Amino acid sequence: MRFIKTTWAGAIAAALTAMLAGCAHLDAAKCDGGFVPLAEAVPDAILEIRYYSTYNFVGDRVDGYERPVAYLTKEAAAALRAASDDCVKRGYRLKVYDAYRPQRAVSHFMRWAKDVGDVRMKPYFYPNLDKSVLFDQGYIAEKSGHSRGSTVDLTLFDMKTEKEVDMGGTFDWFGEESHPDYKGVTEAQLANRMLLREIMLAHGFKPLAEEWWHFTLKDEPYPDTYFDFPVR
Ligand SMILES: [Zn+2]
Repeated sequence: MRFIKTTWAGAIAAALTAMLAGCAHLDAAKCDGGFVPLAEAVPDAILEIRYYSTYNFVGDRVDGYERPVAYLTKEAAAALRAASDDCVKRGYRLKVYDAYRPQRAVSHFMRWAKDVGDVRMKPYFYPNLDKSVLFDQGYIAEKSGHSRGSTVDLTLFDMKTEKEVDMGGTFDWFGEESHPDYKGVTEAQLANRMLLREIMLAHGFKPLAEEWWHFTLKDEPYPDTYFDFPVR
């Protein structure tokens, strides 16, 4: 963890740095730690922050999401900006569902997973799975790479049709249908998944075998740090 000195002088200096960096909504320490708001770093990206909304597998706003905004480390944001520019050239925009995720949000997921009676969102996110297996099968874990600040969940938005492209599945669907190479999708859907993957990999991200929407910066700056400042 990166700590900031707790002296008044240090706090004031950090606050000034934060304001100058244009991240007044972030704790000064987080700015100092090198996080940037996506709205500024990747202005073409569309933000649909699902854990701020109630349309997510929990069915409630998730702990730590205080505004519908997104942050990434400046390294990941710069790489995402390049990916976004690439997308725009091809007629798409990136649509981001989640980026940096506070540890308290991941803890909220754990609390939710243990409450097996709460299946309000089952029809939309895990209709074919018993909620009790979500933790054992790795869908929910005590830690998430997202808390390290260099991981993003996203899809492609087609500027011509003004719709999300058809990936043959939806964000946060729990099941093998979400594996990027899942054989049950159409050729066109697979091609869309591969296009997103190609663009992200070309700009320094690595994919995840279980989720077509999830990418992590290969050279992430905080590979061992799980942050917990709120998204606001
Ligand atoms: Zn993810």
